[in-house]
Amino acid sequence: MAGQDDGRPTLSLSALDFDGDSTYTESTFNNELERADHVALTTAPSLIQGGISGAEDVDVYNLGPIAAGDRILVTMTTDDSLDGAVALFDEAGDALLVNDHRNLYLGKSGPFVDVVIRRASAACFVAVSATPGYPAKGAYALVASKESPVSTPLPRPATVLLVFDGGGNVRIGGRPAVDVPTFDASDISSDYASDTDAIMHQVADAVRADYRAFDVTILSTSEGAVFDGQMTRVFFGTYDPALLGVAEGVDEFNAVAAQDAIVFTDTFEAFMALRPSVPQMSRAIANVASHEIGHLVGLVHTSDPAEIMDVTASLAELMEPQVFAVAPLNPEVFPLGNQDAVQSLLDSVGGNPLLAAVKALRPNRDSITDKARVDRRPARSLVHLSSCGVCNTHR
Ligand SMILES: [Zn+2]
Repeated sequence: MAGQDDGRPTLSLSALDFDGDSTYTESTFNNELERADHVALTTAPSLIQGGISGAEDVDVYNLGPIAAGDRILVTMTTDDSLDGAVALFDEAGDALLVNDHRNLYLGKSGPFVDVVIRRASAACFVAVSATPGYPAKGAYALVASKESPVSTPLPRPATVLLVFDGGGNVRIGGRPAVDVPTFDASDISSDYASDTDAIMHQVADAVRADYRAFDVTILSTSEGAVFDGQMTRVFFGTYDPALLGVAEGVDEFNAVAAQDAIVFTDTFEAFMALRPSVPQMSRAIANVASHEIGHLVGLVHTSDPAEIMDVTASLAELMEPQVFAVAPLNPEVFPLGNQDAVQSLLDSVGGNPLLAAVKALRPNRDSITDKARVDRRPARSLVHLSSCGVCNTHR
């Protein structure tokens, strides 16, 4: 909190069920990782109390070094005027977990962290803010502890089936079920009437290239692959008035094998004002497909038009190659910190670190046309693109 802490509300400790003996109260300036309050994390719970003064306020606590196998537990309680969010970051400020877990079935709306650390870090930061878009001023208390190291969870490789031959009754999260017809490029535009096979081929190649460094096997019905009941599926087809794509949610560390996403290919008619070539249209569809798959293996939204988990690119920028890389978290996810998509993917699904590092190098953006530079319409706010398990699980 930046100043003016006097008179902020405090929570009744009796409501917290706290029986530890270490208590901390936030300092005046702890809005950045560099200015984090130090809290010694031990197996005995520590109580941290603070306040959030508005949507821009972030409170950061340095829980000290962490080792692979440490299990970090943080529960958050807030007063009624604050809808709180918590996130965990490593020493570089890269997100370890951006949390929107809530024990709704226990009648508790406060978020919590329960994560086994995959790799050692000299520092582990826990940051508190208001949930973007929700009530943003009030008091909170965190109870934080770590359990003795357990074995580090292994990455879980993924198999993804690109479904171009349609599907009935496809249900994504809490959305109504839709029938997805067989992909036909002429449903995007009659310009592509003879390009269905070329687009399917180029999309499959591009998504495969995006995930080549990682243990994600990309199969396609256009190449004769069939669903075996265990695969993550991405359907290509049909229209949505608000979305280019949707996925079931953010599946942290790829905990669930078989999940679905849809790339609403008919909605890509929105690109036709830019007269995309077949490779450009294929690239845009592939970028969205790789993005939705990213959610299903644990990635959240970022703000960097050259990064696959971005939600700020213009339509023209979406026709350019994107890569998995370090990028700022989108403010609607959390107001501070980055996501290292490469490291997160290596942690969640596994892969080849050297190849991943090379692929994370930014593409040469000079190839973007002048039109792209002028057209700064954010594709996913104009055509709002979201998958957001955050939205699905909150409240
Ligand atoms: Zn998304």
